[in-house]
Order: sequence, then structure tokens, then C-alpha cells
Amino acid sequence: MFGGRVLRLGRFFGITIGVDPTWFIVFLLVTTSLAEGFGGSHEDWGSSAVWAAAFSASLLFFISILLHELGHSIAARLVGVSVRSITLFLFGGVAELGSEPARPRDEFLIAIAGPLVSGLLGGLFLVIWLATPDDVPVGVVSVWLGVTNLGVAIFNMFPGFPLDGGRVLRSVLWALMGSLDRATQWSGWVGVLFGRILIAAGILIAVLTGSWFNGLFLAFMGWFLSGAARRTMIQSVMTSRLRSTSVAAALQGDLEEVDGWDTLEDVVNQVKSGTGPLTALVAEDGEPVGVIGELELSTVAEGKRAYHVARQVMTPLARLISIESGESLMEALRTLDREGVGQLLVSEDGRFLGVLTRDQLGRVVNAR
Ligand SMILES: [Zn+2]
Repeated sequence: MFGGRVLRLGRFFGITIGVDPTWFIVFLLVTTSLAEGFGGSHEDWGSSAVWAAAFSASLLFFISILLHELGHSIAARLVGVSVRSITLFLFGGVAELGSEPARPRDEFLIAIAGPLVSGLLGGLFLVIWLATPDDVPVGVVSVWLGVTNLGVAIFNMFPGFPLDGGRVLRSVLWALMGSLDRATQWSGWVGVLFGRILIAAGILIAVLTGSWFNGLFLAFMGWFLSGAARRTMIQSVMTSRLRSTSVAAALQGDLEEVDGWDTLEDVVNQVKSGTGPLTALVAEDGEPVGVIGELELSTVAEGKRAYHVARQVMTPLARLISIESGESLMEALRTLDREGVGQLLVSEDGRFLGVLTRDQLGRVVNAR
């Protein structure tokens, strides 16, 4: 999440469970502030009881978050979506799914399962609290866990994507609109709005009440959430653009053509006049035979480019991975990544149509 290394706790039911190092900071903060709180309001407890209560409350909170994520994971499994891992980090946890849910109903069930688990845990701890005598550590820890778990359930149900409530909202909009892309945009905007409200509320709390820590924490959370919502929206726009654009459509603005017998110096001079990174088609007798780009040019020292010709360094078309012109750009991108190459040969009914470079693909995605 923050580029840190995730520590693996282990593997349960095929799901890798890990902890981001930021979580230990939170664990420490929660434990010390709880110890302070418990100690202040229960002076008869003694320091070992205070610390034992604070530590077990933190640990059970940690386990509660894990159970929340397991709730998502089990629901995902039930509707046939695989779960790769669960990671606990600064703001809680995240369950990484192997694929996106295929139907609105599936997304709804996966999203609601987490807050449902937190709500049930909250209720359970409150029942334990009611069943214990006043002011004993078990009761005090239970009431804190009860309220905190209910808080987790309520907070996660705010309708801002990517929070659970945002996913619930998206699944409902998806069912109503019939379009996942539009539902993602709408729930994304609500997420951005919700994040901005949190930022404003945090700043107001900090300024008006003087609780800087709480206010700034809320503002930071709002900034984090609105950023995450925006990223999800952009990703969804790009994904749908890649899915709906054909390889042939991205070929507009064909590559420049150079002759196989042109020197590399000529190639550079001829092609550099255009814009973007250098990639050109190499032709012989009017027939395309290969491609030449920065990679191919780099095999010859700059001072020696007048003594080499394009056909000596080009990558022959026969060596390129090919793709049909009717395929989507999404498929093209997958192929580029899978094969670890920078360009694909585009063919139509077995005949040569053009060459698609990574840069051409990027231009289509980033248009607008
Ligand atoms: Zn959740």
C-alpha cells in the first residue's frame, strides 16, 4: 500500500494473510492510548491489569478486522470468486480478489459480508459486556470492542467507493443501470465527495475544538479515500476504453516508412521530424519487412550510424508476435505484457496490416 514490505502471517484456506508494517504502529498507538484510558478511569486495577486489558483489547480488535476481511473472503468464495490474500494495514484491512465479481448480486454479497461480520461482533461484545459485572476488565474491554466494531461496520457502510458501502452502492447502481462502468463512475464520484466532506470535517474539528490529532487523522483519511475513489474511476475509464477499442482503430496515424537500404543516420533524421518515440516500418521494394525503433538503433554506436543500414538492425516482421486487427486493445496490452515486447504485428485475415507499438496504445488510452 505504501510501498512497504508486507509481513506474512501465514496461509489459511489457501488465502495468504499478511500485515503491512504500518499496522504495528497502529497497534502500538491503540494499546498505549487504551492503557492510558483504562488506567485513568479505573485506578483500582493496577498497572499489570491495565496493560493486559489494553493489549488484549488491541489484539481482539486486530482479530475483529481480520474476521471482517474473512467475511468478504468467504462470501467471495461462495459466489465463485477466488481470494488471493488478506492484508492488514494502517486503515484496516483489504481482501484481494482473484477476479472482479461477474454479477451485481455477487458484488453486493461480497461487499456486505464484511460490515455484517463487524456488526455481529459488535453485538456479541456488547452482550458479553451486559453479562459481566460493572468495572471488571473483561466488561470494560468488551464494551470498547463492541462500540469499536459497530463503528467499523457503520464507517465501512458509508456509500463512498472504495469503501464497502461504496461497493454496495455500485452493485445496486449496476443492477439498475445495467452498466458496470457507469455504476463505477457514479459511486466513484460519491466516494470523492465523501472524502472531501471528511477533509472539511477534519479541518473544522481541528480548528474549532483544538483536537488536532483527531481532526488531522480524519482529514488524512478523507484525502486517502477520495484519492482511492478517483484512481478507481480513472482505471475503470481506461479499462473500458481498452476493451471497446479495436487494434485496427489504434493504427490510425500509421508508422513512418523507411527503406531497408537507408543508413541509420537517414532513418533518425527522417523519423525524428515527427513526434513521439522513434518507431518506423522498414520496407524493401515497397513491401514491409521489419520495424526499427530506439531498441534496434541502440545496437549501433551513434558515431557509426552513417555506416549501417536499416535492414541490418531491424527486427524482421516474421519475428514479431502477431495479433488480429479485430481484437481489443485490452487483448493487445495483455499480449504485450505476457510476451514482454514493445510492438505487435497486426494482421487482418492473414495479411499484414501494420505494427502496433506500446506508445500508440498509450495515446489511445490517454486521449482526452
Ligand atoms: Zn470491508
